[in-house]
Amino acid sequence: MAESAPCVFCRIVEGEIPCFKLHEDPRTLAFMDINPFHDGHCLVITKAHAENLYAADEADLAAAIAVAKRLAIAVNQVLRPDGINLVQANGAGAGQSVFHFHFHVFPRKLNDNAQFNWGHKPGDMARIGELAERIKRAMP
Ligand code: 5GP
Ligand code: ZN
Repeated sequence: MAESAPCVFCRIVEGEIPCFKLHEDPRTLAFMDINPFHDGHCLVITKAHAENLYAADEADLAAAIAVAKRLAIAVNQVLRPDGINLVQANGAGAGQSVFHFHFHVFPRKLNDNAQFNWGHKPGDMARIGELAERIKRAMP
């Protein structure tokens, strides 16, 4: 995307918006979600801008799923949730709010009644930052 792109995730890739970074490689970037549903909620995105799954490059997708696995292992180790969903939305009707491909690593608690459209409640940045360090260290 062009410089000063309006896409928030492109701006994070370009370093124009800060993030609690967990991982970076030539194809992907992973960072904490700033509106976590539960502790440990994080994202892996393709560095290249693609609006959704339909548009994403297959090699980028393969890289992103491999990083999602490593993140899920780390989140599971650090937070011991009752489960973890990988969530990936395509289109507003599917609950997509940022139109740049990403997987959510979405920790779950039994009976938390999470819905696909779970809402965005700002998290505690100090807590998110502390968890980011722990998750980063736990990544295989
Ligand atoms: P979607 O609704 O598209 O599936 O997910 C987008 C996610 O991006 C949401 O969970 C939202 O909290 C997260 N998000 C939106 N803006 C930012 C941001 O500036 N920084 C971070 N770290 N996450 C963001
Ligand atoms: Zn983008």
